[in-house]
Amino acid sequence: MQRVKLTINGKEVEAPVGSTILEAAEMIGVDIPRLCYDPDLSPMGACRLCVVEVKGNRLLPAACVTPVTEGMVVETESPSVVEARKTILELLVANHPLDCMTCDKMGDCKLAEYCYRYNVKDSPFTGEKHHYAIDDSNPFIIRDLNKCILCGACVRACEEMTGQDNLSYLYRGFHRKATTAGDVPYIESDCVFCGQCVAVCPTGALTEKSMAGQARRWEMEKVRTTCPFCGTGCNFDLAVKDGRIIGVLSAEDAPVNGRMLCVKGRFAWDFIYNEKRLTTPLIKKDGQFVEAT
Ligand code: SF4
Ligand code: SF4
Ligand code: SF4
Repeated sequence: MQRVKLTINGKEVEAPVGSTILEAAEMIGVDIPRLCYDPDLSPMGACRLCVVEVKGNRLLPAACVTPVTEGMVVETESPSVVEARKTILELLVANHPLDCMTCDKMGDCKLAEYCYRYNVKDSPFTGEKHHYAIDDSNPFIIRDLNKCILCGACVRACEEMTGQDNLSYLYRGFHRKATTAGDVPYIESDCVFCGQCVAVCPTGALTEKSMAGQARRWEMEKVRTTCPFCGTGCNFDLAVKDGRIIGVLSAEDAPVNGRMLCVKGRFAWDFIYNEKRLTTPLIKKDGQFVEAT
C-alpha cells in the first residue's frame, strides 16, 4: 500500500494514501476532538470541531474529511485551533439546555467532554432557543431535540447501518431538525426501533427509555453477552446497576454485529424479570407440568 509521510505535532507519521488527517493522527495516539465523525458512518465534516492547522493553508480544514498529502505539517492544538474549537462549542451550547446535572447521557456525552477539555462553561452568544416537546411516544427511546447538535449521526446510522432511512434533515436555518419524515413522533414514523440512532448520538438528544433516571453512565457495570433471540448471535453489553439489568449498550468490538442490533436484542431484554418466566425445566406427568431437575 502506498504511503505518505507527514508531520503531526512535530511527530513524523507514515499514513496510507487516502487516509484523513484524523486517521493519521490516531495512528500516533493524537486525539482530535470530533462530534459528527463516527468511524462506522460516512464522513460529513459538519461540526467542524476537528479543525486543525495545516502549514501554508490560511483556513483551518476539518481533519475528518481532509486527506493527508506528502510533507504536510499539521498542528492539532495550536492557539488558533483551540480558539476556533472554543467558539464552535460556545455556539453549540448557546442553544443547548445546560442541565447536565440530571441528563441521562452525562458521563458519555461528547459535547460535555469537549466543553470540559476546552473550559467552555456557558456561551457569550445570546438569542432565541428551541423549546421542542420531548418525544417519548414509544416504549424504547426518548428523543429530546433541544439537546440535538445536528451532527447527523442518527440520520446516517438509520440509512447506512439499518437501511431504514427513517430520518433526514428538515427545515432551514434556526429551525433545522434531524427528524422523521413529516416531523412526526417516532411511533408514527417508519422506525423499526433498532436503536442504532441512540447508539451513535453524541449527546443526550437520543437516550434509552429504560435507563432514564436509573444510573449515571459511570455507575453502570457492563456485562458482555450474546443475544438469545436468533441465530445471528449478536453481542452487546448489558448495562447493570446494583445487580439489576437496566438496558443494553452496543459493543464496538462485537465480532458479528459491531454496534448494530435489532429491536429484540436492544430492547426486548425485560422478559428476564417477568414473573411468569420459566426458571426450571418442566416435564408433563399425568397431564400436569412438574419441575424437573
Ligand atoms: S439527535 Fe443526536 S445523533 Fe441525531 S443529529 Fe441530533 S445530536 Fe446528532
Ligand atoms: S431506531 Fe432505528 S429505525 Fe428508528 S430512527 Fe433510529 S436508527 Fe432509524
Ligand atoms: S439483536 Fe436481533 S439480529 Fe441480533 S441476535 Fe438478537 S435477535 Fe438476532
